[in-house]
Amino acid sequence: MTTTLMQPGQIEAAAGNIPELRLPPADVFRVRARRFEQLADGHAMADYLRFAAGLAHAQQGLLDAGPAGELPAPGRIEQCREHGMPPLAPAGLARPAWHDTARALARSVQPLLTPAGRSALQPLLDGQAAWLDEQAAYLFDNDLEHVDAAVAPVIGAALQVHWTQLARRLEPARVARPELPNLCPVCGSHPVSSVVRIGGAENGLRYLHCTLCSSEWHVVRAKCSNCDNTRDIGYYHLEGGNRVVEAESCPECRTYLKIVHLEKYPQADPVADDLASLTLDLLMDETEHTRSGINWYLIHGHP
Ligand SMILES: [Zn+2]
Ligand SMILES: [Zn+2]
Repeated sequence: MTTTLMQPGQIEAAAGNIPELRLPPADVFRVRARRFEQLADGHAMADYLRFAAGLAHAQQGLLDAGPAGELPAPGRIEQCREHGMPPLAPAGLARPAWHDTARALARSVQPLLTPAGRSALQPLLDGQAAWLDEQAAYLFDNDLEHVDAAVAPVIGAALQVHWTQLARRLEPARVARPELPNLCPVCGSHPVSSVVRIGGAENGLRYLHCTLCSSEWHVVRAKCSNCDNTRDIGYYHLEGGNRVVEAESCPECRTYLKIVHLEKYPQADPVADDLASLTLDLLMDETEHTRSGINWYLIHGHP
C-alpha cells in the first residue's frame, strides 16, 4: 500500500486555489458608467460624475466594437512570464488607432460639457499625433505637472480601451505574479484603488485594480501594497459615511490606497467609488499621507 503525503508546498497550492489575477470582464466600463450615474445623484460633484459616466459609456461602446490592437507574439508573452515581467508594458507595445479612439471619445462627451469644457477638449481634436503621444507619455510616467489636466481623462480613457481589449485576450496562467505588489502583473501600471470582491472563489479577497488595463491582482488584506509592510495598517473613513470606501494607510511609507467594499455595496466600483470619495482624499491630505492610487478620470489637484 502506498500513502501519498502532501508536502507543504502542495498544501499551499491546494488551499491557494484562488484566482490571483482577474482579467477585465466584458462589461467593465458599463458597470462603471452605471455606478458613476448612481453616485451623481445628489452629489456635490454631480456634473463631473455624469461626465465620467458618459465617458465610461463611450468606452464600453468602443470596447464592444472589437479588438484594434495586436497582442505581442506568443514567444514574447512566454519570455515575459519566465522573467516575471508584465507582457503588456506600454514601452514598445504598438497601439495603432488609439488617436482615433481618443478623438471618438472626445466627440462623444463634448455634448455633456459646458462651453468652457468643450473648448478645453478642442486641442485633443485638433492636436497632432505627436502631441497626443506626448500626453500619453506624461500619463504613463505619472508626470502630472506636464499633463494637460482637461484632456487627460479622455486620453487616459482611450488608452484604457486599448489595454483592456488586449488584457481580455490574455490567459491568466500565462502571466507571472508581480515582483512588486504595487504594480499590475499585466501592464506594470499603478493601481487606482483596491476592491474586496464577493461571491465564488474570490469572496472576501482583496484585489488591486489597474489604472490602465482594468486587470485586478490579489494582494492580502491589511498589507501595504506600496511597501509590503503589515504593521499598524490604519483605516480611515468619513464620519457618518457607509464605509463602502475606506482609506488604508501605512505608517512606514506614509501612503494610502482606497479599499472599496463590495460586501457593503455590491454595485460599488473601484474607479467610480474612488473618484466620488474625493472628500476622503482631502481628509487623508490632512493626516499627511500621500495617495498611492492613480485615477485618470480625475487628475488629482486638477479638477
Ligand atoms: Zn494593468
Ligand atoms: Zn507602506
